[in-house]
Amino acid sequence: MSTVGLRDVSKVFPDGTVAVDGVNLDIGNGEFMVLLGPSGCGKSTILRMIAGLEDPSIGEVLLDGEPAATLTPRERGVAMVFQDFALYPHMSVGDNIGFPLKVSGQANREDQVSEVAGALGIGDVLARRPGQLSGGQRQRVAMGRAIVRRPRLFLMDEPLSNLDSQLRGELRAEISSLVRELGVTCVYVTHDQAEALTMADRVAILRRGVLQDVGTPTDVYGRPATLYVAAFLGSPRMSLMEATVKVVLDRYVALRLGDQELHIPWKDLRARAVARYHGERIVVGVRPEALLPVPMDSPGDVLRGRIRHMEHHGHESLAFVDVGATAVVVDEMATPANGRMPATRGLRKFIDRLVGSPAQVAVEE
Ligand code: ATP
Repeated sequence: MSTVGLRDVSKVFPDGTVAVDGVNLDIGNGEFMVLLGPSGCGKSTILRMIAGLEDPSIGEVLLDGEPAATLTPRERGVAMVFQDFALYPHMSVGDNIGFPLKVSGQANREDQVSEVAGALGIGDVLARRPGQLSGGQRQRVAMGRAIVRRPRLFLMDEPLSNLDSQLRGELRAEISSLVRELGVTCVYVTHDQAEALTMADRVAILRRGVLQDVGTPTDVYGRPATLYVAAFLGSPRMSLMEATVKVVLDRYVALRLGDQELHIPWKDLRARAVARYHGERIVVGVRPEALLPVPMDSPGDVLRGRIRHMEHHGHESLAFVDVGATAVVVDEMATPANGRMPATRGLRKFIDRLVGSPAQVAVEE
């Protein structure tokens, strides 16, 4: 078991590329931390610095609270799993899994290999070569080789990205429950937010080498720290609308969105949260699932828009609604009994919380 700390860590490559920029992060004992962000945001570089394969240009990596700079990759006790699995093609599955034990001269290798292979459900293919396995089986062999060393830290770099989506779904559940069972700290890199949100204890979101937000999946989705995170997480994404705030004290807070105005009653705690932005322009973020389609003549505060088009996905229907100049996405639009969708509908709104600076307000159910 192990903790990991990054203290003001930056990495500048010799060609001047700033891959990681002033990252501070603490990963707890036994925690499953996912580093999430688009391609090139510095996820793998952070992983490689934790592993000791790269040195930070500035700052330091701590393992169990101690500076790791003097430790070789081997001394760090980390096991890495890569997206290409990096198996030895000429060796059997059993020899691949047992390889780290052989290198460190351990006895009883066969027992340990069969125990790990049994736990991973690949006990019956130990004699095969990697080329004779399915993608999912190869991934399990790579996991087995990582586990057999009893590492104090797992580092996984997009370990599922070469697999088809159904297998990815199955394996992400398997990997996260296996890692939790073993109680080993894990740093897992992915650009796939579904993977991040379903597997992580906490997610660290990066953009251009800069850490944007860290929190549980529920936190970063529901309470994003920056506008970038608000827009990045969620599929379809949060709709963002500019609005002006006007406070009519003790009565309501008015949000002016284009040519429409929504009133949040003063007794609603969310009105108080928005009130501090009186007279300012803010950005209101609305998640598709937070909007409820209602008939146009519904009483109360309703945002009115015109449906531009619908997308039917089987399990959900999405309506793309123009509200002024903004396209708002609405989930689970109930299809009327006659099967025809009216051209306009009202959208009831719910204001939930504020995020970050005055320019950012998230609206949710
Ligand atoms: P991906 O998901 O595509 O693997 P990533 O988030 O893991 O991306 P990194 O591989 O950490 O990103 O790369 C971060 C940035 O650093 C990128 O701009 C990349 O081109 C650059 N980079 C990585 N390695 C080097 C290197 N050895 N020399 C110069 N630049 C590098």
